[in-house]
Amino acid sequence: MIKVGITGGIGSGKTTFCKEWEKLGAFVVYADDFAKQMMQEDAELIRKIKDTFGEQSYDEKGNLNRSYLAEEAFQKGRIEDLNMLVHPVLWEKIRMLAKEKEESGTHVFAEEAAILLNNGRPKELDYVILILADQNERIERAFQRDQSSDTNIKERISKQPDFESLMHFADFVVDNNGSLSELKMKAKQIYDKVKMIE
Ligand code: ATP
Repeated sequence: MIKVGITGGIGSGKTTFCKEWEKLGAFVVYADDFAKQMMQEDAELIRKIKDTFGEQSYDEKGNLNRSYLAEEAFQKGRIEDLNMLVHPVLWEKIRMLAKEKEESGTHVFAEEAAILLNNGRPKELDYVILILADQNERIERAFQRDQSSDTNIKERISKQPDFESLMHFADFVVDNNGSLSELKMKAKQIYDKVKMIE
């Protein structure tokens, strides 16, 4: 099985790229969605979040209290505390999922994560793909997608690394300043190459 990591900043086009890969037959795990699922389902993680951020982190029905936790983590500068709890569980579960997928015959396993290169290049990956687009373009696209405020998007971007400085970690760098169809075409070209290289 070929393992590929796909990364880039907010609005860079990671998800769009990965949706193309899914159509071409890849299995893709989206780290953000997967982390949210863990925070809702993993008993040990839920315990740790409550211990660190308080019982109010979940409501009486056991649902994550997103607004409370976002306030605690982002507004009160405790995002690192939350990441330290969530990220190790997330990577471990992704490793387990990869193993499962390998055993069931998956050919291309891809993980989409903005945080992929936070600690350098993960050694288990065969390929790393970095999607880049100009910041103004990313803000506009994220704005159109989320209907979120400009300031909010800029603030989230400011908390991410400068992805251009991570190019040396990548086997493929995708320029996504062009059209959507160009991005999809690039996704297919890289998929074909990755499959061929094996
Ligand atoms: P995030 O990290 O915020 O989830 P992302 O990197 O996954 O973002 P996408 O969700 O794939 O980015 O793209 C952001 C938005 O921009 C989407 O609505 C997508 O349809 C649009 N988009 C992506 N690439 C292009 C493009 N080349 N031209 C026009 N729109 C694009």
